[in-house]
Amino acid sequence: MEQADCLFCRIVAQKNPAGVVLETPTTLALRDINPQAPVHVLVIPKEHIGSISALEPRHAELVSQIHETIKAVARSEKVESNGYRVVVNNGRDADQTVRHLHYHVLGGRRMSWPPG
Ligand code: AMP
Ligand code: ZN
Repeated sequence: MEQADCLFCRIVAQKNPAGVVLETPTTLALRDINPQAPVHVLVIPKEHIGSISALEPRHAELVSQIHETIKAVARSEKVESNGYRVVVNNGRDADQTVRHLHYHVLGGRRMSWPPG
């Protein structure tokens, strides 16, 4: 459940402000405070899950719902046809800074590969 010291839990609980793009019963989409592309939205589960590594089989439906929210964000942000990138940083080497699972949805410009 909610972790008092978790930034994204506080946003879900409306204790911290956020630019909410879209909300479903189980997920929230909010604008990244430091956007790396014209469209940079974070999709998070409302439940506190630390990272992909903390996902369990009981989260299967939630993972599907996260992907439905990602698709809805891509539609509403108008990047569905041109394409967009979905990034999940997991752990230290990936530079995960917020320990509440979040999917970066990036679009509105051409991306390069490989990522840094
Ligand atoms: P990561 O490095 O993958 O853990 O990504 C964390 C992301 O959260 C970064 O892109 C930050 O810019 C973003 N972020 C940090 N604080 C906030 C906030 N209060 N509202 C929205 N995005 C935030
Ligand atoms: Zn949390």
